[in-house]
Amino acid sequence: MYKEPIFLQPDFKERIWGGTKLRDYYNYEIPSTNTGECWGISAHENGPSILKNGPLRGQTLTKVWENHRELFGHEEGEKFPLLVKILDANDDLSVQVHPDDEYARIYESGELGKTECWYVIDCEVDSHLILGHHAKTKEEFVRMIETGEWDLLLKKVPIKPGDFYYVPSGTIHAIGKGALILETQQSSDTTYRVYDYDRIDDKGDKRERHVQQSIEVSTIPHKDAEVKQGANRKEGLITKQLVSEKYFTVYHCQLDGSVEQKMNRNYLLLSILEGNGSVIIEGKSYSFTKGDHLILPSTISEYQLTGDAQFILSHTTYGPLGGNNK
Ligand code: ZN
Repeated sequence: MYKEPIFLQPDFKERIWGGTKLRDYYNYEIPSTNTGECWGISAHENGPSILKNGPLRGQTLTKVWENHRELFGHEEGEKFPLLVKILDANDDLSVQVHPDDEYARIYESGELGKTECWYVIDCEVDSHLILGHHAKTKEEFVRMIETGEWDLLLKKVPIKPGDFYYVPSGTIHAIGKGALILETQQSSDTTYRVYDYDRIDDKGDKRERHVQQSIEVSTIPHKDAEVKQGANRKEGLITKQLVSEKYFTVYHCQLDGSVEQKMNRNYLLLSILEGNGSVIIEGKSYSFTKGDHLILPSTISEYQLTGDAQFILSHTTYGPLGGNNK
């Protein structure tokens, strides 16, 4: 029986808006000074994580999901449903929108839709996001895009470290310059770019836009997402629920001491933001540190966490154990 945490080797993506914070904050070996994304927990074909330990070491999470579903509570589904990233926005990301499951299945050859959420790890003083828009009707939305009235159309939100945003598919959004963000999302890589600030790349070309698709999938008028939040303390662990919606439940956790936990989900995803500690399973200790990404599989029945650390924890919302009841 598999009785250990699964540590993952992330995949990194260079982006025109990327920087060096993934190295500066987490000591990751990044491919260049334009590194935008760390795919920390991923079974997506465009950047799967590799297992770093245990009997399945060296395999991709994609293969492990295919062949070892017992580690994931025999949850159903062709694809591992979640993807956890850290994003370094050294410059503004394009204004974009993602499709829902239905649209992606039909028009993006079976991709999942992309509902996502953001935890702001750090940001510069004047950082902001774009979240939503001000158009009241589709006609107004289309007209403002055609005439380039971006300042009137787009809803700007100032941010600070520790903020959290839930971004359902269909929400117009952009992460702004200076933000370091942990994103928990559906496992999808489909983005429709509405506006890219008329930027040109080093060959003098603008990045492709997908205006027609954006108009089709955007929620009009925009609705601010409401999320239920709450915190509790158990022994040395403060757990704050950030969101619990259809696809995922995400928590911010502050560990300061020790806590005994029962495994009551199909599997748990952990990304360590600060500090270090250990997870102890049947008397064996596995240490973790800032920047680590790991999965606790369902074959673990109890575990203890000890240390001084901050991490983001997530799981699929359906469950709790054995298959899903979507
Ligand atoms: Zn997005």
